[in-house]
Amino acid sequence: MSQPTFPMHVSVAEARDMLAALLPRLETETVPVNRALGRTLAADLEALVSHPSATESALDGIAAREADTLGASPGTPVRLKLVGESRAGVPFGGQVSAGECVRIYTGAPLPAGVDAICPVEELEDNGPEHVLLRRPAFPGDVRPEGGDFRASEVIMRAGLRLSAPRVALAAALGHAEVPVRRKLRVALLSTGDEVIEPGAVLQPGQVYDSNRAGLSAMLRESGCEVSELGHAPDSPASLQAAIAGAGGADVLLTSGGVSMGKYDFMRDLLIERGRVAFWKVRMRPGGPAILGGWNGLPVFGLPGNPVSSLVVFHVVVRPALTGQPVQSLKLRAATPFRGLKDKTAFWRGVIRDGEVHDYGQQGSGILRSLSDADALVIVPEGGAVETGDTVDVVLL
Ligand code: AMP
Ligand code: MG
Repeated sequence: MSQPTFPMHVSVAEARDMLAALLPRLETETVPVNRALGRTLAADLEALVSHPSATESALDGIAAREADTLGASPGTPVRLKLVGESRAGVPFGGQVSAGECVRIYTGAPLPAGVDAICPVEELEDNGPEHVLLRRPAFPGDVRPEGGDFRASEVIMRAGLRLSAPRVALAAALGHAEVPVRRKLRVALLSTGDEVIEPGAVLQPGQVYDSNRAGLSAMLRESGCEVSELGHAPDSPASLQAAIAGAGGADVLLTSGGVSMGKYDFMRDLLIERGRVAFWKVRMRPGGPAILGGWNGLPVFGLPGNPVSSLVVFHVVVRPALTGQPVQSLKLRAATPFRGLKDKTAFWRGVIRDGEVHDYGQQGSGILRSLSDADALVIVPEGGAVETGDTVDVVLL
């Protein structure tokens, strides 16, 4: 190949940013809150109500005036008159006066006149007209109105990814529906003469298509709409025909055919007849990845090696597609991890007792290593990790 006209050997961060720059801005749509898992909020969400909506009890017991109960102890219990009951959804309507109390249950509104709770376990002679308290009632067992959030406060910001707890929070804020970005439409194509469908009879030299299964799963997990284009053999004509099926997608992900070999036609197609934004990322596994375009459609060519394609997806593609940064955490290395002169390494690691160990087999074809490993250990370009060093890891 003559001198390329596009960037070669970009960094992981550059690869991520260049892919993100080719993606469209996604329109807003509205979905029921209980269908919003994994979606990205398109607008700030404010609380439509306060939570709790009234000052309420955190316990089952009695509600009283703290001042009436201060001397209570097992030897000298305090006697209070029971004047009613407040339960969740059915508050006590009256006023509670000095020397009086009401039976109360978790989540029930605190009646007017009282400020503290004594739990049922600390009561003697428990009703029906009087109770004896073995200890004082505590104001701390009251949940104040708005203690979680107050009406009209902005609680969730646009761009937030809706995890299960965030879905619960959106519902608690009072939203039956939430504005989210529409799902990114991703077309997925496997390439390779040797690649066949799982379930078919495998001839020596063939391999089941694990990339499409894995990438499709990761895309769905990332909140994308996946259109599977199946698998294309290694010829420019069949690749072009398969890519034509990606109409309507926002981006096409392919696997295989982007390395240095004679039959790596995905690479040739983009370089010779499409557009290339970069070829090769300074990372291992996954170096040969290519980003380009085909008739206006952004195309990201992942390497065919199963570990490479899933790791590049994890650290380059997913953060670009979702806008969510890769979450890393720091752990103590229980084994050394080697560094590479001009590549960032993502070694598979196993976490035990808060330390990360080398998984051992780090070959790009050892797919079970990704299944067994807990994390990718990041060794920056030119760095190396000794036992006892603190390392950045990305959870798998
Ligand atoms: P390539 O990048 O096309 O040179 O492929 C590199 C290696 O990955 C070869 O051993 C391929 O057989 C393997 N490979 C390519 N595509 C897939 C796939 N979809 N599923 C599993 N292995 C694959
Ligand atoms: Mg191939």
